[in-house]
Amino acid sequence: MSLSAAGRTSAGAPAMAAPAVDAATVGEPQGDAGGPPAVASHPSISVDRERTRFTIDLSRPVPIDSFGLTDPYRIVIDLPETRFDLPQEAGRSGGGAIASWRWGLFMAGRSRLVFDANGPLAIERAAIERGENGGPARLVLVLRETSREAFMAAHVRQTRPPALSEGTGVLAKGDREPTRAQKAKPVVVIDAGHGGIDVGTRSPATGTVEKGVVLDIARLLEKKLAATGRYEVHMTRRDDTFVPLGERVRIARQHHADLFLSIHADAEYDRLVRGATVYTLDDRASDSAAAALAAKENASDALAGVVPDEAPSAVADILIDLILRETKRFSHVLARNLVEDLGAVGRLVKVQPHRSANFRVLKAHDVPSALVELGFLTNKDDEQLLMSADWREKTTSALMSAIDRYFQNRVANAP
Ligand SMILES: [Zn+2]
Repeated sequence: MSLSAAGRTSAGAPAMAAPAVDAATVGEPQGDAGGPPAVASHPSISVDRERTRFTIDLSRPVPIDSFGLTDPYRIVIDLPETRFDLPQEAGRSGGGAIASWRWGLFMAGRSRLVFDANGPLAIERAAIERGENGGPARLVLVLRETSREAFMAAHVRQTRPPALSEGTGVLAKGDREPTRAQKAKPVVVIDAGHGGIDVGTRSPATGTVEKGVVLDIARLLEKKLAATGRYEVHMTRRDDTFVPLGERVRIARQHHADLFLSIHADAEYDRLVRGATVYTLDDRASDSAAAALAAKENASDALAGVVPDEAPSAVADILIDLILRETKRFSHVLARNLVEDLGAVGRLVKVQPHRSANFRVLKAHDVPSALVELGFLTNKDDEQLLMSADWREKTTSALMSAIDRYFQNRVANAP
């Protein structure tokens, strides 16, 4: 599968064409990365024989997800939290196959558009088109009448709110594209932080060191993922050896990884601080604590007396730039899944559980990557959990669920 594997729009409906690959639909990486909400305005419905086309302007491109619900028939578009600048009466009447529609905040951080349909509909297109010549971005939804059977086949009933994913994207013509297409299973690379001479952080109470804790948890996750038969799983280390950060990135790229997850445990001067934090790569840190953590983790090579790799030269190639943006967006989807699933079984840090900073280990430009700090070895309750078999079981299941959901959304429409 390529970086542009489409969303679930027509999952399970082989008769339906996959959304077109269209350079105009690439969103900004910050589309799902917080910041002020996008503003939606100027909705419009037009009808052309059997097709009904809905559009709404957006102040910036955002990732969207689309699916159908039955009894009654509805089409749903999920998008990041959006401010709807619409007259109150908008949506009370529709046009064509749309009887009416409504909008609003669905849950924290997520908004939703719901279209009441007059009958079963196929989603021919659900995409964000980037505005031409500085014009606004636009959400475009094209619906076509279909049979109940086709509708049921296309729209698997949702059991939980879907993670946002791209419906379409640029086909990344990377150097590894042919190999990617030939792969039978998604490749997951698990990275146990530190190792060997670099012990990582240390519990002040018991002397327990990070490198051993995270290796045990990484190996448990590896075992579980491999047991599903759905993934090809690789580890950056399987024992107590030191692996330079650049080498970890190389291992991910060498295996043509589709996902890279780095596992760590944290330390904090304030011993009351506890909970898990998920990090993604960004040149500019989300906050000073994240920057300090990245500096500490990046010091691994220096601690071990290894000269860090030369920083890669700035990439100007437009395709590389597109790949970087796609990778960043998918990394954010992965991070959101991790926050949701870790939060469901355990404790997250109180403030901002998804943060970003310049982590060298997350720098494979074409591999969606995240680093998770599972808890604080400086907090005695967290340390107890990190050492507990029961907690490790629950936590690795949560990590696996986040990975499962990530690939379900990405490969639903892959050829
Ligand atoms: Zn660490």
